[in-house]
Amino acid sequence: MTSNSGPSDIIKIRAHHLLCMQGYQGYGYNQDFEHNMEKIIEYLDSNPNFPLEVVTDADIICQKCPHLENGYCNRSSSIAIVEMDLKVLEKLGLVAGEKKPVQKIFFEVESLSCNDLYDICHDCSWKVKCLLYMSKVEKKLAISR
Ligand code: SF4
Repeated sequence: MTSNSGPSDIIKIRAHHLLCMQGYQGYGYNQDFEHNMEKIIEYLDSNPNFPLEVVTDADIICQKCPHLENGYCNRSSSIAIVEMDLKVLEKLGLVAGEKKPVQKIFFEVESLSCNDLYDICHDCSWKVKCLLYMSKVEKKLAISR
């Protein structure tokens, strides 16, 4: 896979996007973004041993995002977005720049608890479109109501 996020033998993924990829249901900022996201997910699903470098800045998913400006996220929530990345790193016991195979890291993401997901994602504007959040957190909240 070619990427302008680094050499083609490794893909940089910002930490919170590990969760976004698991919960993706086809909704994004525009068609370009969605097409890129789908290509990346498909590639990683078919290449489980491919190494990912987990980062806290712009990655291969950001490359097709209308909010990427001069290499940086221009959303007003960009600081909160980095905080999400840092929380994911902490909960997965990773440090920025760490490299792991896709399969291993996705397995670890799947093992995050409802509380972890709530803590990471409860302010995210996409959570109502996120299968991961809806299936774990919303389901649990509905049961406890
Ligand atoms: S909103 Fe920001 S962090 Fe999210 S994909 Fe776009 S540039 Fe990346």
